[in-house]
Amino acid sequence: MTSVLYRVPRMSYPMAVSAEGLYIRDDSGKHYLDMSGGAAVSALGHAHPDVLEAIRSQLSALDFAHTSFFTNRPQEQLANRLAQRFGDPGSRVYFTSGGSEANETALKLCWQFWAARGQAEKKVIVSREHSYHGNTFGALSVSGNAARRKASAAPLLDWPRISPCYALRGKGTEECAEDYVQRITAELESAINQVGAERVAAFICEPIVGASLGAVAAEPGYLKRIREICDRYDVLWIADEVMCGSGRTGPYFAFEREGARPDIVTLAKGIGAGYLPLAATILSGRVAQIFDGTAFVHGHTYIGHPVTCAAGVAVQDVIDRDNLLERTTNIGAEFGAMLHERFGTHRNVYDIRGRGLFWAIEFAAERERGEGFRDRPGLPQEMLESALKAGLIVYPGSIQVDGACVPHLLLAPPMIVENSHMQECVDKLRQLVDDVFGA
Ligand code: PLP
Repeated sequence: MTSVLYRVPRMSYPMAVSAEGLYIRDDSGKHYLDMSGGAAVSALGHAHPDVLEAIRSQLSALDFAHTSFFTNRPQEQLANRLAQRFGDPGSRVYFTSGGSEANETALKLCWQFWAARGQAEKKVIVSREHSYHGNTFGALSVSGNAARRKASAAPLLDWPRISPCYALRGKGTEECAEDYVQRITAELESAINQVGAERVAAFICEPIVGASLGAVAAEPGYLKRIREICDRYDVLWIADEVMCGSGRTGPYFAFEREGARPDIVTLAKGIGAGYLPLAATILSGRVAQIFDGTAFVHGHTYIGHPVTCAAGVAVQDVIDRDNLLERTTNIGAEFGAMLHERFGTHRNVYDIRGRGLFWAIEFAAERERGEGFRDRPGLPQEMLESALKAGLIVYPGSIQVDGACVPHLLLAPPMIVENSHMQECVDKLRQLVDDVFGA
């Protein structure tokens, strides 16, 4: 008997007891190759000696000092590092414990920013379908993940949501990429006009959609256009990089490649790499400036925790010292090539996509038309259980298309992944795909 309320009560969870590098071991001695870093979390693998040492040493020096009374060195150092990476003069950083809190913080920042500018009626947050920004009330309210919204049974706010940038299923066959981008970004403009720009506070999106769609990057030009529309209508742009940021796709921020900088960016998962619960909300100089004259009214007990921030600093040190951003780009390309080679022609594989070490395989009942599975709504859970059986950790998800289940598998291995891990992964994945979809 257990007293734990599990995520899936009927599932029998293995008992994890230790971990090192890319492997987690359970109490029976079985090893699991962690090729998704849990949910794109363990960016440096498990038990990295530098991070462990930084945590131990900070814990002995200063375990906790409430931020109502003190700042602390790790918080100051990490904020400087992230502000430097963001590269906007005057930007500031607010540390929380997870992605939902980071996005909740971003929403509050937007509302208080507009209130301080005398535009307190700007409250509406526009977001996108098939997005996930967290499980707290505000973050789930702006999430377009239909399954999670429904299952929460929460009385969520229903603000406008526009289409995601998902050319695979959204672009017309006759439409060119530029026209597609023009059409779906026009949805943002229409949503703002419908509500009235004087009531719209912000637009939030994931530059590369994570768990909700499976590593779907915005088309070239999309984020630039979003930036222009937000500027035209005096709307702030929040980039949720909780999953796709912290170097996961090569550059530290996923938006960097697109030549458009958000007003606020949120990070979690990879920033603390799973060692301790850490998240960050980074404000551009323009947004931060408002809070020079007026307090940002927010706060949680554990914000800016010295030990979690020390873990974050150590993660940044390892990334920089070992050139892991460059490594992510290079080895990620090799991993992508392997996935294409092994699964590119499988009859149930509809798409293989990714950037850096952020990849996904999308499945379909048959590859030509990309139709989903009508009678198998439980496919993501089947894939998860089959992977665990094979000693592999991958992150499955799905969406509904025309009433059918379209499943995907997300792969987000640590930046220290080696060729041998990738080989083992594709072998085990082949087994999983054959088990679930038939050989
Ligand atoms: N935003 C994105 C893009 C996420 O993927 C997640 C979690 O998966 C969250 C926010 C919420 O983060 P957390 O689970 O740490 O609260």
